[in-house]
Amino acid sequence: MRDRVTIEGVDVSPDHFIGGRRVASAETFETRCPFDWDRKLADVSRGDAATAALAVEAATAAFPGWAATGAAERGAVLHRLADLIEANIARLAIIECMDMAMLHESLRLRVIARGALNFRNYADIAAGYTERTWSSRGTANRVIRMPAGPAVIITPWNAPFMLSTWKCAPALAAGNTVILKPAEWSPLSASLLADLIEQAGFPPGVFNIVQGFGRDLGMALVSDPRVKRISFTGSVPTARVIGKAAAENIVPFTAELGGKSPLLVFADADIDAAAKKAAGQYDDSGQVCMAGTRIIVEDSVREPFLEKFNAYADAHVMGDSRDPATTMSALIHPDHAARVLGFIDRARAAGDTIARGGYAAGGNFIAPTLIVPRSNASEVVQNEVFGPVLTFQTFAGEEEGIALANSTAYGLSGIIYTGNAVRAERIGRAVRGGTVWVNTFLVRDLTAPFGGIGISGIGREGGDYALDFHSDLKTLQILEGSVG
Ligand code: ADP
Repeated sequence: MRDRVTIEGVDVSPDHFIGGRRVASAETFETRCPFDWDRKLADVSRGDAATAALAVEAATAAFPGWAATGAAERGAVLHRLADLIEANIARLAIIECMDMAMLHESLRLRVIARGALNFRNYADIAAGYTERTWSSRGTANRVIRMPAGPAVIITPWNAPFMLSTWKCAPALAAGNTVILKPAEWSPLSASLLADLIEQAGFPPGVFNIVQGFGRDLGMALVSDPRVKRISFTGSVPTARVIGKAAAENIVPFTAELGGKSPLLVFADADIDAAAKKAAGQYDDSGQVCMAGTRIIVEDSVREPFLEKFNAYADAHVMGDSRDPATTMSALIHPDHAARVLGFIDRARAAGDTIARGGYAAGGNFIAPTLIVPRSNASEVVQNEVFGPVLTFQTFAGEEEGIALANSTAYGLSGIIYTGNAVRAERIGRAVRGGTVWVNTFLVRDLTAPFGGIGISGIGREGGDYALDFHSDLKTLQILEGSVG
């Protein structure tokens, strides 16, 4: 076990959490502060195949006991974890802020609490589940939901706490044991979560957290035949690799991948609200899978929209994410910033117009960038950038607007601005995406299904959908009148 490190007054373990105790690896990897890259935060234990085997062993051993526990009893532990998260919002918020650069205000006021709600919500949904029963063809039919086994949850570096809690809660509520592997660029909030798991009273081995890289630790986890569910959020190329491992073991797999979502603005919309929301997407430097990165505006409101959009974009303040005056965070890592700048450079070289920004702004920052593509086929329109880079296109008439909106291989979400109720319904149905918002963005009910169409993913999370994924469903049929 390594010594805990103190970051902004909060002590964090740099080790794994397996079978209810801290486990160190001989090798480590560094995690640094995105907005102050010279500042190393911790040397974190770097897990390998042996770490994966140990974690799967712990989760496998703990599974029968946890699965046999009733949903209400499991729910009580999940509620205790939610209580502990709420009591530790300040600690979790500052660690996530330092490790990932998400704005501290937003973490402190909303995001961490949402993590607690994920556990509460699933405790309640699982406890409220009633088996479906009906009579047909002379038999009594019943659908039984059975825990599936150890689940591997792999999460990305953006929104690490929110996504980890969102993905682990249904697995645990369904009666599965969990091995969470957070991303190597933002591992620390998960390590704080492990402290709370210990305090909440989970039996050892029910909820394990391992730290390390995808290509060795992650690969070993998803390839282990004792694992019965794999739930992944990350990039399309990684989903292909994990999907192959899942196929090898015939293990159900969900993947929530990227997006290239349209933000469609009709002339009858509240243009100021639309422009504000569009420019607001720069706040986390565009590192959000659901972002409406393709702004598509009706011709007749092009000028007023751009005027307002530029005013909101100009008002952004890049800087230290702890500072409440900062409105735009740094990119997570210099390698990622270089990748984003590569998109901008290629767009410029190919003849797209850089309408604003388009340059590195010191450290891991890139100025808020708007690109007017030379054609809809431009790389920057078709591929996810995951940075503060939005594209701007215009349309004449609904048909063209919908055609542009639906013109990529992705289909995670869509955002529509219109003041017309009939149009809201019509366009809402026509836009391709797992979630489509009208006149709002990112507001999500935790019981609604969430996931992607096309290369944006496989499967749905949220509400009962995730509980079904984490369960083996059985139909039990008893011949009526045959038993007394
Ligand atoms: P991003 O582009 O968001 O970093 P990745 O798909 O590379 O997306 O990473 C998302 C998560 O997947 C991270 O936790 C990473 O470590 C993990 N990962 C990457 N490659 C693999 C792999 N081959 N097997 C399992 N997990 C992986």
